Amino acid sequence: MIRFKGKGVYGAVAIGTVSVFKRQEASVRRTHVDDPAAELARVEQAKAQAIEQLSEIYEKALREVGETHAQIFEIHMMMLEDDDYNESIENIINTQSVNAEYAVALTSDNFSEMFASMDDAYMQARAADVKDISNRLIACLSGGGGEQSEQPDKMVVCADDLAPSETVSLDKERVLAFVTAFGSSNSHTAILARNMNIPAVISAGEEFLAQAKDGMKIIVDGHTGELILDPDEETERSYIEKQKSDAEKKALLQQLKGKPNVTKDGREIKIYANIGGVDGIGGVLANDAGGIGLFRSEFLYLESEDYPTEEQQFSAYKKVLESMAGKKVIIRTMDIGADKQIDYFNLDKEENPALGLRALRICLTRPEIFHTQLRALYRASVYGELGIMFPMIISVSEVEECIAMCDKVKKELTDEGIPFSDKVELGIMIETPAAAVISDRLAPLVDFFSVGTNDLTQYTLACDRQNAKLERFVDTHHEAVLRLIEMAAKNAHEHGAWIGICGELAADTSLTETFLRMGIDELSVSAPFVLPVRQAVRNTDLSK
Ligand code: PEP
Ligand code: MG
Repeated sequence: MIRFKGKGVYGAVAIGTVSVFKRQEASVRRTHVDDPAAELARVEQAKAQAIEQLSEIYEKALREVGETHAQIFEIHMMMLEDDDYNESIENIINTQSVNAEYAVALTSDNFSEMFASMDDAYMQARAADVKDISNRLIACLSGGGGEQSEQPDKMVVCADDLAPSETVSLDKERVLAFVTAFGSSNSHTAILARNMNIPAVISAGEEFLAQAKDGMKIIVDGHTGELILDPDEETERSYIEKQKSDAEKKALLQQLKGKPNVTKDGREIKIYANIGGVDGIGGVLANDAGGIGLFRSEFLYLESEDYPTEEQQFSAYKKVLESMAGKKVIIRTMDIGADKQIDYFNLDKEENPALGLRALRICLTRPEIFHTQLRALYRASVYGELGIMFPMIISVSEVEECIAMCDKVKKELTDEGIPFSDKVELGIMIETPAAAVISDRLAPLVDFFSVGTNDLTQYTLACDRQNAKLERFVDTHHEAVLRLIEMAAKNAHEHGAWIGICGELAADTSLTETFLRMGIDELSVSAPFVLPVRQAVRNTDLSK
């Protein structure tokens, strides 16, 4: 029995058989060719075949993991058409009179090294994508398909790393879990694993890969990141017990579907879910959330190559509102900046981006962006129960500017004869200490508050939320943060506004009673936490 520890990216225990991922890496030899034009024609043919394969993978991903995550394969198709990439292959063939496979492999090495050496983490991650598309192209040139051929049943796939296309190509029915020696928790592969509901552990280390052999028994604990090769009977039994208790907990939670979020002494609270895009709606409905408490609309911008148009935004908001069939949907205006940077916004590099031009500050500086988003939101409002929420508020005048912009948009739509709902609620995020402290002045202006505890904690404790080294200094239950939330709750209610929490703390069930005692009206959490929070609410007795 050998134990290893990686990082769990999707919780659950799997007990299965190791299947070491065999990549059909074409070994490429450099050969001289007399007819470069014929090689160029071979490249074109292989490219067409690769694009056809990718479009099939895209369709499969669309069905299994949703549009947001399938988009990577559209990007792969675009990368195959990229001018620089193709010119490089062409130049190598023409100037060196070499075979197409070699020209693709050399281009792949050059481009992936270039991406890997960039500062930006997003661009670094593109190195794997260049390798992925190039391997596919080489496989097509060599007459291969580029996919894994042999897949035993109920396997735990163990690999150095898995490219997104490799992850999606695996037969979901037969894969019990993924384990990779390398990888980061924000890689597309980790995200895909979560969306495919497959337990996954990453960063298991090279030694793990050296020891894992086909056919070995393996236990994967996606909660803790523990990996056990060749477990003894007692260990296996203890993990079978863990699987059983996981299943029981899950089944118990399922029984809470359809039940009210009400404490033992009769106080009711709303439990909503947070989403980042239209493809999150499935999880919201499956987990019986009462509404959407935070739609992070910036993901529409992050997934786009250019500013999303009014039409594109309108169709996304309309779809969410229609799917929620009359349940509340709170859409936050875009929160770009800080850790969510977008090239086409052409923002200046800042010393302290978390304290910089972010979210509403961009909207108020560049009103045309704000205007487009608000028009799309109001036009969509007739399809459901919309709330519009403004992030990063610090002052009364900002809220007044937001309201004035909404009034301008409503007047325009009226003049154009375009319908919108007159029941749209306006709210603000309480995610800066300033907003919490002056919440008595802000509450009369809006219908609701929603506390963003992620930023409220970072700004109150002066601890960058992106900096892992600060973990020991960040007390998520810090009295200062809790007092600010309590202050905002009191001020909201005194001025007729309701208050929710949409930061990660909303899902911390050790605080559910505290929040209920503060009078919080709504908790908005990631979809898998809706039922655990419902359970915590139902176990609370405020009369004691
Ligand atoms: C927050 O700050 O708590 C929040 C919900 O917003 P985000 O995490 O998107 O900054
Ligand atoms: Mg925030």
